[in-house]
Amino acid sequence: MVEKLISYGYLRSEKVIRAMLRVPRHEFVPEDKRKYAYSDEPLPIGEGQTISAPHMIAIMCEALQIESDHHILEVGTGSGYHACVVSLIADKGEVYSVERHARLVEIARRNIIRAGCCGKVTIVVGDGTLGYEEKAPYDRIYVTAGAPRVPPPLLQQLKVGGKLLIPVGSKLGQELKRITRIGDDEYREENLGGCVFVPLVGKYGW
Ligand code: SAM
Repeated sequence: MVEKLISYGYLRSEKVIRAMLRVPRHEFVPEDKRKYAYSDEPLPIGEGQTISAPHMIAIMCEALQIESDHHILEVGTGSGYHACVVSLIADKGEVYSVERHARLVEIARRNIIRAGCCGKVTIVVGDGTLGYEEKAPYDRIYVTAGAPRVPPPLLQQLKVGGKLLIPVGSKLGQELKRITRIGDDEYREENLGGCVFVPLVGKYGW
């Protein structure tokens, strides 16, 4: 899987490649889907949600430009796979992840223990469109569900110099946006291309 992602140009940097090689994706998918764990597709994980396709994890990890000591917020834990990969890139930092489905939080916590990433990722139940004020500000925030607009709390919880990655658009398709906070009230926005995510549901979501 990783070799293919490299040959297609999704994976480019040594640290992201190393992290993806270390996380066993089969530990993050339901038993009956394990035979598909290393194919490049999203898979159902319960509650009508999916573990994202590996190429999307690769695109997002590369686009986030994560440093070893970064303090990171993920919105939408799902299976915990993406957070686990990110925690190995930010190996001297912290990863906090917010998920709205309590049942997925339980499953993700178990997955993370089995994959050996526990202690590096803290998962909480809640509405991630509000961010996670308790541990703000963050060097990086990324959202793994499609939003109708950028939730203001996520912009406010970024450090100056920090980056937010978020799919924004309709329920059928979104643009992946990278937003850099360049001053207290100044942000620069880049469009990184089309994508399709499950909806972000919450106060500032759908
Ligand atoms: N990256 C995840 C993984 O590796 O398995 C997949 C995430 S899945 C595509 C998107 C997740 O966002 C779902 O688990 C969904 O329940 C969650 N979600 C949607 N709206 C949310 C919100 N407002 N707060 C927190 N989680 C939310």
